Amino acid sequence: MEVIKKVRKLCICCMEEHEVQIVRVQEHTNFKGMVVDYTAEYEYCEKADEYVAEGDMISHNDISMKDEYRKANQLLTSMEIGNIRSKYGISQTDLASLLGWGGKTITRYESHQVQDRAHDFILRKIDGDPEWFLELLCQGREKVSEPAYQKYYEIVAKRYEDRQDDYLRKSIFAQYIRYENDPDSCGRTRLNLDKVVAVIRYFANSAKMFHLYKVKLMKLLWYADSLSFKRRTLAITGLVYAALPMGAVPIAHKSLIDLKGVSYEEEEFPDGSGYRFVKTSDEDYSALNSDEIKILDKVIDICGKDTKEQIVNRMHKERAYKETEQGEIIKFRYALDLSID
Ligand SMILES: [Zn+2]
Repeated sequence: MEVIKKVRKLCICCMEEHEVQIVRVQEHTNFKGMVVDYTAEYEYCEKADEYVAEGDMISHNDISMKDEYRKANQLLTSMEIGNIRSKYGISQTDLASLLGWGGKTITRYESHQVQDRAHDFILRKIDGDPEWFLELLCQGREKVSEPAYQKYYEIVAKRYEDRQDDYLRKSIFAQYIRYENDPDSCGRTRLNLDKVVAVIRYFANSAKMFHLYKVKLMKLLWYADSLSFKRRTLAITGLVYAALPMGAVPIAHKSLIDLKGVSYEEEEFPDGSGYRFVKTSDEDYSALNSDEIKILDKVIDICGKDTKEQIVNRMHKERAYKETEQGEIIKFRYALDLSID
């Protein structure tokens, strides 16, 4: 027994006013054919040496027991169900109508009634798959009020949009999987897209950076990883670079710049368009450690003011580039000969 607090009140056990202890007790009971261990709260009367519960306490204890049963059976707890619903900002009644369930079903699941497995599966699906929920919402538009529909649509569309980055990340990882066990290609580092985003952001936000366009950014990433490998025999990002006419370009470079957290503006030139990477108010570099920041600072010091032509020329003189056939992967073994220390 654990005493949570003591309050002076009318004791519902002996019906006299005295100090009553509010206590937590481990209980076990039989529910749906299984023994459930759970924590219950009671008022404890020392005079009568008795535990009593009333009103909210009884209800709270019942939900606590049901939640332990749910956990033991890999079902969502009442609070988890409430949280899934809150993520979409949808009311209990509206969610039940959209699903074609009885009007009070969700309300009950968020308290005393244990959901069956099929309904549990659907609730998890809603949580993990905004695309599916969006379809459900559109199909059931007439089941909720128009203002409610508009509100839910906005939230679910936003969640769906947020998932884009997950899909994009998966597709990038799929392009990298073949290099994962090749330390000479990936710099003994597993691809870390949080670091990629942080490095790009760090470059774009630097006051010493001059005109950061895509071609230059791709070289800067390679210089950062190569310098890191030279210093620590470990790259920063895990990116794998191919040798192209204008120098190193990471695999999946088209997708990399669309990662959430990377900001660029598209600019029109007489000979086509270019991506200029711009400063953001986001200065979160927590994905990078202090050694990595020092490496980036060094790369900015040396190459930050380079024009596109200058950095391409710089790259063309690197042994790593000269030793690599066009279109082939640039190996990190050449990092020892990098022009930057
Ligand atoms: Zn009492």
